[in-house]
Amino acid sequence: MADKYLELVNSGMTKKLAKLLGLPRPPRLRRYGVDTPLLPGPVLVLGTSARAQELSDVMVSWGLDVRRHDAGQSKLGGLVLLLDELSHPEQLSALMLATGAALRKLVPGARVVSVSKPALANDEPAVAAVRQGIDGAMRSLGREMRGGATANGIVLAGDTSIVSPSALGALRFFFSGRSAYVDGQFLTVRTEAGELPDDFRAPLAGKVAVVTGAARGIGAEIARTLARDGAKVVLVDMPQAGDALAKVANQVGGTTLQLDVTAKDAGARIMDHALTRHGSLDLVVHNAGITRDKLLANMDAARWDSVIAVNIASQLRMNEVFLAAKLPGLRVVSLASTSGIAGNRGQTNYAASKGGVIGMVRASAALFAESGGSITAVAPGFIETEMTAKIPLGTRTVARLVLPSLMQGGLPVDVAEAIGFLGSDAAAGLNGQTLRVCGQSLVGA
Ligand code: NAD
Repeated sequence: MADKYLELVNSGMTKKLAKLLGLPRPPRLRRYGVDTPLLPGPVLVLGTSARAQELSDVMVSWGLDVRRHDAGQSKLGGLVLLLDELSHPEQLSALMLATGAALRKLVPGARVVSVSKPALANDEPAVAAVRQGIDGAMRSLGREMRGGATANGIVLAGDTSIVSPSALGALRFFFSGRSAYVDGQFLTVRTEAGELPDDFRAPLAGKVAVVTGAARGIGAEIARTLARDGAKVVLVDMPQAGDALAKVANQVGGTTLQLDVTAKDAGARIMDHALTRHGSLDLVVHNAGITRDKLLANMDAARWDSVIAVNIASQLRMNEVFLAAKLPGLRVVSLASTSGIAGNRGQTNYAASKGGVIGMVRASAALFAESGGSITAVAPGFIETEMTAKIPLGTRTVARLVLPSLMQGGLPVDVAEAIGFLGSDAAAGLNGQTLRVCGQSLVGA
């Protein structure tokens, strides 16, 4: 499953050869470790905004070396672009050119994060133009970054400010190695809801989390990541996967529940297990999913119906049970896919189910918020798992090397890190959103 090409072009003699031949060289990504620094160098803040000083103070309290307007000769680990007060596209020039100059000082694995406002239909045309223009510029910048550095953005909706809990949560997520495979994406802060953790090393301390499809692949990695972040984990999978499930549960000190998520009583059994065994239910990750690919012309009812049943209908049914129980502060994170956004040949059924997840999440946000909860989704692109190892080598190489601007597939841990963040209290104000974890690609299972 490992990407051997990435290893070859990044080590010893073969690295030199690849350089000589001018072969594309996917960078090693900067991933999270509990003891790794938040950024690999000082952070430069460009632009002005009402709460800029407060933001700088917070970043200093995170242990960062914060520079305002000019970094001198220093190398940089991060750049924050304050663009939320611009009102005309002509005002972009100075900041974007200063950003361009600062890009040359970025170290590998650096982060650029913009702060802007959403472009709305009732904005002044020039205001909407600059705001939507920032979206285009940042997505393009994401494609120009090198050395595993990324560019993402925070959008402040309504009256939210850059120092609201979920804006700061999003900023930390984008800075840290947790967002290694997230590039060219935006998180919109919709409300002031949420709370930053007391201890950033254990943001899920004291929480009880359920992960479906946890016996292998992305689900197993989600279970490991949530446990590392302090959660007590309940691992759910099919009875046939019982042995593998028990193995992962032992690794993470969790409990198991053998269950087909399409069962009518799945929601009730999950709730019952979490509440009786662990005393609460704080986070549900709807990860169980299947593919049954066929061109639509050759599709049979069994393939279509099973994908809809597992990937979306089961989630709708379970969510109804959780909502009816009014579990306080329940967070739900669901697995969508870039196929549900961009479409993928041979995957009409899968894309219907994953597009369905995105729609469900958007429409359920207000319902979960009534009890202080939230629902979000992650849309992975090409992730190196048993599922994608079956894809023919040619297609796999294109999916890894050519399509994403980070020139590689993601790892299960990259999806798990995004879920850990979206499932934490720091992300409550991001309710209803789907975040792509795709290395800035738009194809994949
Ligand atoms: P996987 O096939 O390796 O693992 C899926 C797990 O879900 C398995 O353990 C399986 O037993 C379990 N499962 C399937 N049906 C179930 C049911 N009815 N009840 C309970 N458990 C069930 O898949 P993966 O690659 O780890 O994918 C995990 C999720 O991520 C899926 O929702 C998938 O659609 C999504 N996803 C994966 C990729 C990728 O590139 N691998 C990309 C986008 C989205």
